[in-house]
Amino acid sequence: KRELAEPGTAAQFALRSPIVAVMGHVDHGKTTFLDTLRKTNVAGQEAGAITQHIGAYQVDHKGKLITFLDTPGHEAFTQMRARGANVTDIIILVVAADDGVKPQTVEVINRARLANVPLIVAINKIDKPDANPDRVLQQLSEQGVLVEAWGGKTISVPVSAKTGQGLEQLLDYVLLLSEVEGFKANARGELVGTVIESHQARGQGPVATVIVQNGTLKIGDILVAGAAYGKIKNLEDARGEKIRAAAPAMPAIVIGLSETPQTGDIFHEVKTIDEARTLTRAYQNQVRARRMLRPGLVASGKTLNLVIKADVQGSLGAIEQAMEELKSRSEEVQLNIIDKGVGQISETDVLRAESANATVIGFNVTPNPPAVALAKAKKINIDLYSVIYELIEDVTKVMVSMLSPEIVRTNIGVAKILAVFRTDANAQIVGGRVEEGKITDKDPFRVKRGGLEVGTGEVKELQSNKIKANDVFQGSEFGLKAQVSDKILEGDVLEFFSEEVKTRKLD
Ligand code: GDP
Repeated sequence: KRELAEPGTAAQFALRSPIVAVMGHVDHGKTTFLDTLRKTNVAGQEAGAITQHIGAYQVDHKGKLITFLDTPGHEAFTQMRARGANVTDIIILVVAADDGVKPQTVEVINRARLANVPLIVAINKIDKPDANPDRVLQQLSEQGVLVEAWGGKTISVPVSAKTGQGLEQLLDYVLLLSEVEGFKANARGELVGTVIESHQARGQGPVATVIVQNGTLKIGDILVAGAAYGKIKNLEDARGEKIRAAAPAMPAIVIGLSETPQTGDIFHEVKTIDEARTLTRAYQNQVRARRMLRPGLVASGKTLNLVIKADVQGSLGAIEQAMEELKSRSEEVQLNIIDKGVGQISETDVLRAESANATVIGFNVTPNPPAVALAKAKKINIDLYSVIYELIEDVTKVMVSMLSPEIVRTNIGVAKILAVFRTDANAQIVGGRVEEGKITDKDPFRVKRGGLEVGTGEVKELQSNKIKANDVFQGSEFGLKAQVSDKILEGDVLEFFSEEVKTRKLD
């Protein structure tokens, strides 16, 4: 499989600040979160100062910058994705602890999975008396999002967007995660970025907020952004201060465009105004042409759309047959061929793919240069193959990755509680005997009373004969320090179980 080459060598790419989107169900506190953060941490700002809403801002946390998209709600993200833009590095999923996982929470989880963007869970409103963070973690696990306490890798932080509690820790985790992920850009490379927001301002004309993703944006640069183009007359940072240049991951306000571009439009630099005008005109024609096409299938959470171009009718037929076969192997994931044909990949194919959120597959064919440029600008994937089974293998892999993970729980042991020694706000120390199998210090347990489940818990420390132990087996007594959702009483039965996230297969 060949992929379109990225310009710039690895050595020129340096770490950049992460770009973070805050998402979650309505009323779970996204706006409050972004407001509190803006008031307390905005880079170079006196605490408490009021800043303008321009669609993005940067906070300074322990000397490091983090870019936040200041557009709560799913619209901006959806709009950007539909245009192929992929600005978000990390999603903070806000879940209100008094309300739990809701439909839009699930939607964010699915989108993050599809877009391959890592999540950090902010369990919000923990200041409220009816907050139940454990229930949130439980519900998240049902969606395949396992936090550390549940044996998974997802970071979760209890916060109060209202009081600011936990926000520092959350920012620590954002920096930690971005260190692990290593987001990079080449400040001296080709200039590319995304439009976050735009409006007409009196006396200034079109004003757009953009985020640079690669290269450096400077006054005097000539940009093309969707249907808009122009020479940049003025640049400001998120605080409205004049700047000469904007580096990768930095939001900037751009003045000098011919009209307001749309959220999610990708911008890039060209050499002359003439070139910009020509490209823009071509783009407008394409938009017009696209409006005449029937609307493509919208990618919902579990849909994989393809536009297929092949060298001859024979190979196209073989691919279609193989895709039909794959399609029949999953009820959960939809595989659709949006468009197909024989011949070189053209701009029409790319636009077709864009309108349907699809990937363009070329079999023994290549894209023509305008299609390459357009695909690059719109971040549409073009995958080229010359061996059918490699194509089938790749599509299979993608479909498998879209399946919801299966959590397999295995019972590993049962213990009876003989005594409760101490009960604190967040921990209990109890003693008991293992009746079946074994219990361990890393697996969770259910608390049962009279055959009914009354709570769940996790082990803080396990002891056998007053010595720290990793496992205690059938017949032995143990001491246990545990964190539980509901208090353990003498006579309760603890059922220990292990949890494993299984990668699923197609049928
Ligand atoms: P959004 O729809 O997700 O942007 O939610 P908002 O930020 O508008 O918050 C919805 C409501 O929850 C508002 O009344 C907020 O004041 C309240 N709220 C948000 N965060 C917290 C919090 O941490 N604690 C409490 N007690 N209330 C909160």
